[in-house]
Amino acid sequence: MKQHFDCIIAGGGCSGLSLAYYLVDQGYLGDVLVLDREQKSNNDRTWCWWSKSPTPFDSLLTHQWQHLKFANHGKQRTQFIDPYRYRLLRSADFYHFIQQRLVLAPNVTWIQSEIESIEDAETGAIVRAGGICFTAEWVFSSIQKQPVNFVPNNKLYQHFSGWWIETAEDCFDPSTATMMDFRVPQCGNTRFCYVLPTSTRRALVEFTVFSTELLDKKAYEAALEAYLTNTLEIEHWVVQEQEFGVIPMQIMEPTPKYRQAHIFQIGTIGGAVKPSTGYAFARIQEQTKQLAQQLVAQKLPNPQLKRPKRFEFYDRLLLHILTQRGDLGASIFGKLFQQIDFPQILKFLDEDTHLGEEIGILASLPPVPFLQAIWASHLGTNKFTASPPNPVRI
Ligand SMILES: Cc1cc2nc3c(=O)[nH]c(=O)nc-3n(C[C@H](O)[C@H](O)[C@H](O)COP(=O)(O)OP(=O)(O)OC[C@H]3O[C@@H](n4cnc5c(N)ncnc54)[C@H](O)[C@@H]3O)c2cc1C
Repeated sequence: MKQHFDCIIAGGGCSGLSLAYYLVDQGYLGDVLVLDREQKSNNDRTWCWWSKSPTPFDSLLTHQWQHLKFANHGKQRTQFIDPYRYRLLRSADFYHFIQQRLVLAPNVTWIQSEIESIEDAETGAIVRAGGICFTAEWVFSSIQKQPVNFVPNNKLYQHFSGWWIETAEDCFDPSTATMMDFRVPQCGNTRFCYVLPTSTRRALVEFTVFSTELLDKKAYEAALEAYLTNTLEIEHWVVQEQEFGVIPMQIMEPTPKYRQAHIFQIGTIGGAVKPSTGYAFARIQEQTKQLAQQLVAQKLPNPQLKRPKRFEFYDRLLLHILTQRGDLGASIFGKLFQQIDFPQILKFLDEDTHLGEEIGILASLPPVPFLQAIWASHLGTNKFTASPPNPVRI
């Protein structure tokens, strides 16, 4: 069995498969090994994201929307989000599509195996999987064995449970996705529901919480049931599929100090999650496309995305508020979505806005919590620092 490769992709999930896809797409000629403990044939998650331009996965989308809705107890607001589209992709379709591509690429090998360790060496890196030592010049890892190392007092998770439901009668408008509906009890956290209808009778409904601790499994189910019955006033539905997820919300950039010479972290552990929203899919595409371009051009790989530093500052402030005063989340998002046009919000969350636009957006938010957050971070009472990524040795 071949054991030396030009690059090893440790973890063939979203970021690993995306990297493999862009390498093949861009004509990378080196030998690539993709390792994952799973076959990656199950639909283990559903990705939603927005973008202005077409993506390589558009033919796989289950649905896309041009209208988004925001709701709270005060008001509901629906807007046309042109030039953006909000897209929904089932992970099983994504895995299958890329695996089919990789089968046709003579320089890519896929092995299903448990990775035991990844270590840096003088001229490359060593990956031990299933008792075999594989070596490569570069290793790109998205596997995470230890829990995320949160900075003390700044632990925040986005955790959610979703049901794909089918109703007996027409209950949904498939032209509009509800991005945030705060008409759920907040219980001192930031809590809301998503509704992603793919037809008048089928939708993914998710209950999401931003908080420091996860809930009991039954609490997610009770919240979904209450939302469907009391808020959407749906009497009968059948749950066809369920999903559950936990995303760490933290500024978590790999810095050169922690990076090992031949091993790079990508995806969630590589800092690709937008800390204040938990969205990662679009950033993972950007990150892995950038890496593929660098490898094809025989440049030093660098998974860090270039971003104006001020967006990190905005993320830190919002994370501070959501961590310390989760009960304010509903009013902050309420002000934002009631006063600012949705395409402008999406542009801001994409970190594409210029300073003048950002001032307009920040002015719509309640000033006191933000001033307190600036004050707290200035005094260092809740110092925000990037924590090191998890140890690469697993
Ligand atoms: C349920 C869920 C829904 C989400 N929805 C969205 C969304 O709508 N929009 C969005 O932008 N983001 C979303 N995210 C966040 C993010 O996009 C996903 O978590 C994304 O899959 C992260 O990609 P990744 O490559 O970092 O990790 P993964 O996709 O989890 O890939 C890691 C891979 O490593 C493998 N692995 C782990 N340990 C080992 C080992 N020891 N040996 C071998 N293989 C191993 C795993 O099997 C897995 O395939 C969601 C996350 C979850 C959990």
